[in-house]
Amino acid sequence: MNELWSALTNSITPYVPGEQPKNIDNLVKLNTNENPYPPAPAVFDAIKGAVNSSLRLYPDCNATCMIESLVRFYNIKHPNAKLDDSNFFIGNGSDEVLAFALRAFYGQERPLNMNDITYSFYTVYCDLFQIPYVIHPLKEDFTIDVDSFVNAKGGVIVTNPNAPTGIYLDIESIKKILDNHKKDVVIIDEAYIDFGGTSCADLVCEYDNLLIITTLSKSRSLAGLRIGYAYGNKSLIEGLNVIKNSFNSYTMDRIAQAAGAAAIDNWEYYDIITDKIIEDREILCENLAKMGFITLPSSANFIFTTHPDYHAKDIYDALRRQGVIVRYFNKPRISEYLRITIGDKEQNIRIVEALNKEFGL
Ligand SMILES: *Cc1c(COP(=O)(O)O)cnc(C)c1O
Repeated sequence: MNELWSALTNSITPYVPGEQPKNIDNLVKLNTNENPYPPAPAVFDAIKGAVNSSLRLYPDCNATCMIESLVRFYNIKHPNAKLDDSNFFIGNGSDEVLAFALRAFYGQERPLNMNDITYSFYTVYCDLFQIPYVIHPLKEDFTIDVDSFVNAKGGVIVTNPNAPTGIYLDIESIKKILDNHKKDVVIIDEAYIDFGGTSCADLVCEYDNLLIITTLSKSRSLAGLRIGYAYGNKSLIEGLNVIKNSFNSYTMDRIAQAAGAAAIDNWEYYDIITDKIIEDREILCENLAKMGFITLPSSANFIFTTHPDYHAKDIYDALRRQGVIVRYFNKPRISEYLRITIGDKEQNIRIVEALNKEFGL
């Protein structure tokens, strides 16, 4: 209890980010789902181009140049979604976009429904914004119990593919949730959608209650710049802007806007590195299977894996001794699992070698 803090500050438990070690030279860092490959070369040029005397001026508060890139990109990749500039909202990382969305669409009068095993920031935001939430356990096999959401009162947030399981939920199931929540916003957090799933982008024009949130941190190799965005019906975007402009109008600096637009424009580069990551994920899964690991089917740039003969915490500690950092969650149902980000080929081999050295697997 800190007497100078508000009652709220004293009552909440903040999110714990994955470790970011100071010196990663000799480490294989596979704990926070970053991309092993650098951003597209054009992103560096865009950043250099933005470093000039115009930095004395405030940025465009709507990040229009990045929205224009997104409109072009979605018209190529998802023409049926028919998205225009009124459908997008850019933010300082999708964590910020998620925060604004929860504040904008839920509250005492409308609780939020979510899974027990999902991105753990959602409950933190609910506590901060005093939004009641209802937890829906995943099924025994860690798939989403869609029916449990159907009659639930209030809004819904689903991570797809889910984190930390990596399991993808099909579009028909999402439609079922949307159909039964016509008067509530349903948020689909597609942070990992580029690594194997099909985006529900095309549903935006069909469902006014659908908001998709995604990030440039994972598939666009830009975790260091903090860029995320939401898209959905125009009225949802307006709601997000009400919250943003009641908090901080200039969330996206000039450099991030220029880099974000270049990253979206250079999607062909990212398609290539994403394919490599998907291919290497399957190789890593096969190698781990040979060592006895059981891995959930992943559509993400990470895997969630367990070994019948060794405790996950012991494997985590052993990998750490070998300079390989993965993520361990000491939480109910998943305390015997490790989440391992897919690295480049060399990093993935280092995991296998480290396990071999420590356990003779
Ligand atoms: C990484 C992640 C985010 C946050 O992304 P940022 O844009 O880096 O803030 C949001 N949701 C999920 C499920 C994530 O894994």
